[in-house]
Formats: sequence, structure tokens, C-alpha cells
Amino acid sequence: MRIVVLAGGIGGARFLRGLQRASPDADITVIGNTGDDIHLFGLKVCPDLDTVMYTLGGGINEEQGWGRTDETFHLKEELAAYGVGPEWFGLGDRDFATHIVRTQMLSAGFPLSAVTEALCDRWKPGVRLIPMSDDRVETHVAVTLPDSGERKVIHFQEYWVRLRASVAAEAVVPVGADQAKPAPGVLEAIAEADVILFPPSNPVVSIGTILAVPGIREAIADAGVPVVGLSPIVGDAPVRGMADKVLAAVGVESTAAAVAEHYGSGLLDGWLVDTVDASAVERVESAGIRCRAVPLLMSDLDASARMAREALTLAEEVRGA
Ligand code: GDP
Ligand code: CA
Repeated sequence: MRIVVLAGGIGGARFLRGLQRASPDADITVIGNTGDDIHLFGLKVCPDLDTVMYTLGGGINEEQGWGRTDETFHLKEELAAYGVGPEWFGLGDRDFATHIVRTQMLSAGFPLSAVTEALCDRWKPGVRLIPMSDDRVETHVAVTLPDSGERKVIHFQEYWVRLRASVAAEAVVPVGADQAKPAPGVLEAIAEADVILFPPSNPVVSIGTILAVPGIREAIADAGVPVVGLSPIVGDAPVRGMADKVLAAVGVESTAAAVAEHYGSGLLDGWLVDTVDASAVERVESAGIRCRAVPLLMSDLDASARMAREALTLAEEVRGA
């Protein structure tokens, strides 16, 4: 079975680990979000691609969910001693090596998709990981700074990591997306898929950004295979992080049903909500999306694998309908 998964960082990566357990023989292609990418210290950093690569390749800091295991921060401290920041972005010594290799290859003229493949030669994530695009896309957020009242547009990482989403996101813009082309292999993988899954990744700044690359949304809608998603919102709040802030920016309430409606029946065939949101099933089904309530907390690998099985079961139900 060929499965295509659109993934952000932590939510996507943890789900993928469950999917590999649930479906060990599946041929899995991951289309990764690159809207979070940022240039720091002259290096190209791709947080979501790396979270997927490290998680599936066994190099992730498990407690944190991002960054490397056994990490040290000497380089960051040395840079800070020169007054060179930003200090709010946690880049460890081991992690730096990845960004150095990536930047070196990009400077030599390789596209990001080829660079990602080369990095995965080391990590062997067991999936084909393709960035959504080789073109530069950067998610920016419009905010009003509380002290000065100044309206500013800042990089998503500055909003998320430095400000910890403490002010309202007034708009979220995937800058460059409208000019970006899907990376080689993206549309082909979608066209050849048997099932397409949206893991419980952020619907706005992870999956929404991937869908903003012209051609990808259309290819999924036209693929003619089941498209099933899992809600990142459980009990009217994100399980982790601050997805409610960016959902508000696009006028979507933070409920499992509203996120399903935001994707819409033109895209989604099936949607899983958590058992605490069982009352949302009727609303989602009346929007033309088949819906089931099952436990959606990825507390361990077994729980994530059960979620993946439920998603594949719902996909088969939709296919048979
Ligand atoms: P990021 O790029 O690291 O923010 O990761 P993603 O976009 O892939 O996933 C973030 C989303 O995952 C957040 O909105 C969380 O609510 C959601 N999430 C994290 N852990 C869980 C979980 O155990 N269950 C569910 N249903 N969602 C989760
Ligand atoms: Ca991310």
C-alpha cells in the first residue's frame, strides 16, 4: 500500500512512527512543511523536516519532541559570547552539523529535495521524505506588539518560539507560497497514492502551508483515493502548542469539528476526533465527511499505532462507500 502523509513537526512525526508500526510493509511518502524554515547564523534550518527525520531515524530528543538527543550547546554559548544571536532559538551542537551540511549542499547548487534525501541517507527514516517545495516559502505572522502598539509582520519562528504566541496572530501568510512549485516527486506520489493522510499536525502553519503550494491541494482533491485526517484539537484545545492562536487568525474556532469543516469535504473524506469530542461526529458528518470518535492521544507508540490503524480502517470504509 502506498500512503502519502502531509506532515509538520512533532504531531506529524509521532503519528508517522505509529503508522510505521501499524503498517510495516507500507510504502510511505511524507510531504514535509518547509514554511517554518529560517536562516540563522548563515545556515538554513528546516525544523519540521528535521523533526520527522530525527524522530523516525532515532536521533530525536524524546521528551522535547524536537532537536537531537544527547545534545550540548557549546556553539550557541560561544556565539552568544560574541553577542551573536538570536538566543531564543535552541540550536544544539549536534543539530548544527545538520544545518551546516544542508547549507553547504544548497550553496553547491543542490535543491532542498536532493539535500533532504542526502541527509536521510544517514538517518534512514524508513519513509521517503520530500519537502513540499524546493522554492523558498516562509510563514510570517502579523501582530501588534503590546508595549509599543506597533503593527509588525514577523517570521513564524519569532512568533512561536520567541513570543510563545503570547499575542494574537492577526494574519498568517505563507510568503512565497503562491510562486512556489511542488518539489519533484510530490505530485507523482499523490497521484500514485492508495491513501492520503493528514496527521494531527497544525492545520494552519503545517498542513495549511503545504496546501498553499499551488497544485498540491488540487492534486489531493483529484487523486480519487481516500483522504483521512486526525484532529490535532482534543476537547476544544490543541494537545500541544498554540494552534488555537493561528486558527483564530484564519477565523476557525479551536474545535475538532471546525477544523474538519475548514479542510472541507472537497478535500477530506474521513476525519477522526477524540472520544471526548464524540458529540462533534454528527456535525462533521453533516458537512459530508465521514467521522469516527476514537482515542487520539499519542501517549506512546502503541497509542499512535492504534490511531494510525483507525485512520486506515476509516479510509477503507470510505473507499467501500
Ligand atoms: P509542529 O510543527 O512541531 O508544531 O508539529 P505539527 O504541526 O506536526 O503538530 C502540531 C500539532 O500536533 C498541535 O496542534 C498539537 O495539538 C498536535 N498534537 C500533538 N500531540 C498530539 C496528540 O497526542 N494527539 C493529537 N490528536 N494531536 C497532537
Ligand atoms: Ca512546525
